[in-house]
Amino acid sequence: MLSRLRSLLYLLPQFWRMLFTRPVTVRYPFAPLKLPSYFRGKVTIDPELCRGCGMCARDCPAFALELERESRDNFRLIHYHDRCAYCGQCEASCNFGAIKLVNEFVPAAPQRDTLSRVMVRRDNEEA
Ligand code: SF4
Ligand code: SF4
Repeated sequence: MLSRLRSLLYLLPQFWRMLFTRPVTVRYPFAPLKLPSYFRGKVTIDPELCRGCGMCARDCPAFALELERESRDNFRLIHYHDRCAYCGQCEASCNFGAIKLVNEFVPAAPQRDTLSRVMVRRDNEEA
């Protein structure tokens, strides 16, 4: 009983103070979220630069990239956002400057299977 009273005496002034202080949390998604300049939360690719070499997928520690190759000029590069650790290894591994992490983030999604994206789709006919 005494400990409850002590807790109450401690909590009541805190509660009263919180009623008149501004929230420390951000209002996202109701207001824009300001990201720090060093934040890297989205993997982007320039499909024109991608050669389908697969180095990014080979080196990804989270298995977040998958290269589906049917022939030399026929491939798809898929990114799984839900596995990605945004570590930047793919950017470092790409010798063609095709894949980059940018100062954005991927919004949440209600279904896990929507968290993948075909980043490159090359359907050239073989010569
Ligand atoms: S940022 Fe890291 S975890 Fe994400 S796809 Fe690139 S290598 Fe994989
Ligand atoms: S993004 Fe770069 S490393 Fe990945 S398949 Fe394309 S060219 Fe190769």
